[in-house]
Amino acid sequence: MQTQFDSAALHDPDTAEAEKVLRKCVHCGFCNATCPTYLLLGDELDSPRGRIYLIKDMLEQNRPATAAVALHLDRCLSCLGCMTTCPSGVHYQHLIDHARDHVERTYRRPWAQRLLRAALARVLPFPARMRLGLKVASVIPRFVRRSALLPAPLRAMLGLAAVHAAAPHTEMTPAARPAAPRGRIALLLGCAQSVLTPETHAATQRLLSRAGWEVVTVSGCCGALTHHLGRRAEAVDFAARLIANLRTVSAAGELAAIVVNASGCGTQLKDYGFMLRNDPRLAADAARFSALARDITEVLARSPLPIRALPQRPVVAYHSACSMQHGQQLDALPRRLLQEAGFELREIAEGHLCCGSAGSYNILQSKIATQLRDRKLANIAGTGANIVATGNVGCIMQLRSGSSLPVVHTVELLDWACGGPRPAALPTLPMPSI
Ligand code: SF4
Ligand code: SF4
Repeated sequence: MQTQFDSAALHDPDTAEAEKVLRKCVHCGFCNATCPTYLLLGDELDSPRGRIYLIKDMLEQNRPATAAVALHLDRCLSCLGCMTTCPSGVHYQHLIDHARDHVERTYRRPWAQRLLRAALARVLPFPARMRLGLKVASVIPRFVRRSALLPAPLRAMLGLAAVHAAAPHTEMTPAARPAAPRGRIALLLGCAQSVLTPETHAATQRLLSRAGWEVVTVSGCCGALTHHLGRRAEAVDFAARLIANLRTVSAAGELAAIVVNASGCGTQLKDYGFMLRNDPRLAADAARFSALARDITEVLARSPLPIRALPQRPVVAYHSACSMQHGQQLDALPRRLLQEAGFELREIAEGHLCCGSAGSYNILQSKIATQLRDRKLANIAGTGANIVATGNVGCIMQLRSGSSLPVVHTVELLDWACGGPRPAALPTLPMPSI
């Protein structure tokens, strides 16, 4: 694609990078075929190619974003399905991240949107605030939560809080240190996940320590939630705090890997090297920690797991989170691990499509998110599986909000197969043998 950037605009290194991305696009439109919002809305401006044109037009002249540009970019899930499809290697992730930052800096949203986005940015990444928010939500009666008089985002938020309240949880307990550890691994605790599904961290710790790893935990939000809201400065602050925590942990002993078990956070951490490349305070460590970041399944695939025979052979539909399959290009690995652990896997039709979770998208764009969720759940129902497994906390919450099937993290199933407890979400369900 030819570009005609204002030379002043190119002084901004992120705009200069965006120009490089834009020049790779050859307008072929292959990406449109796999874009969830184009599929649902049928508007070219809600397709990757359409958004690329909108971004190009806005950045070329260094223009403020308009309401129309904000609308169509807000509707993008950042699912990155278009990156997997693109034959020209267009790095849409970096383009949309920069465009969201530009929109946030140059467009004044209606007050209700500003209030909602600020509230999400100030609550979701902070575990203590989130716990308090969930407590408050839990005393709101069901008829109020579901009232059509409530604004849709608030209804969506309360619905997700109710999903959390209804799910059984087990708290994280420190894993036993192996007698002769094969190495040292840092497990990222993150923000929302440590509140919403602490059982994921507990299972991860047990699995890693059974596989011979010494596990140290690292607190801190990776900044993905705020980054996707276009609040770049806040995202950089979160990254700086996490990098400081990682420096402390790595100074105490060499790290073999930084393990992330929420694929949205993994995608973000793996991109720190790019995101912070021009920050003299952080660039070197950002690149170092990005290079060490691994999804939990990447580490487990290289570790000997003490798999035991399960009492039955449970039938699992594996939902490949977008941040896993498109963001990190990890699709086959989690499936292989589940199969090796004794689960029967069923393929979900339209597996490339997002479930509508996408960070805070299911709150901000609840109508589209619900349509995508219901489409995903219909495809899951078509598999005949009796368990859904996935590798991202956002997808777990989103699918649980509409499903009667148990939705669990992949590591909970692997942990179970290695002698860990049966996942708390499973006991009441029939588990037919094959
Ligand atoms: S990131 Fe997802 S929703 Fe956004 S343009 Fe690409 S495919 Fe469409
Ligand atoms: S598939 Fe790639 S090159 Fe083709 S229009 Fe989409 S982003 Fe551009």
